[in-house]
Amino acid sequence: MIVALPDSLATEKLGQALAQTLQPGMQVHLHGDLGAGKTTLIRALLRGLGVSGRIKSPTYTLVEPYEIARLPLHPQPQAQNQVELHPLSKIYLYHFDFYRFSDPREWLDAGFAEYFRADSVCFIEWPEKAANTLPQHDLSVSLNHASSAEYADFRTATLQAYSERGQGCLNHLHF
Ligand code: ADP
Ligand code: MG
Repeated sequence: MIVALPDSLATEKLGQALAQTLQPGMQVHLHGDLGAGKTTLIRALLRGLGVSGRIKSPTYTLVEPYEIARLPLHPQPQAQNQVELHPLSKIYLYHFDFYRFSDPREWLDAGFAEYFRADSVCFIEWPEKAANTLPQHDLSVSLNHASSAEYADFRTATLQAYSERGQGCLNHLHF
């Protein structure tokens, strides 16, 4: 699925629309050059999930954690190996940025494997820095500069599903 993002506001709207489609246990990968809009999109997504307060880029901290009471949870097909969560259990959101990693196994040494759980949703900028040592992801969003003299802020987003749940997100995405 390819969508046009003429300005930052469009990217933020995509983030908010995506927020409505997520399920616990999912992992979303964000691709794109520096300044493509990955953090802008995730910030809007986190806001859409009800995160209040400051949302800073994890450029230096590598991960920023958030807690919410529940996901918007639109009805979606149940994935086979989906773990049933207690209705009152919190959902943990983790926003990673692996840009500064020089070795793909660094995220394992950092103890990040324990962040990937049935009660968490992980958003990862620069997953390519971890090569293929990351767990299987559900969805990827690739942001590309498509600016011209006329449209300085233009980007495109290419969304691709890698699991049944990821496909469910795209099926339920209203953008
Ligand atoms: P990244 O995390 O990919 O390095 P950021 O989201 O931190 O990128 O920065 C993107 C910058 O580009 C922001 O300053 C944002 O305001 C600007 N921008 C301009 N047009 C867009 C667009 N269409 N989508 C997202 N950001 C845009
Ligand atoms: Mg960023």
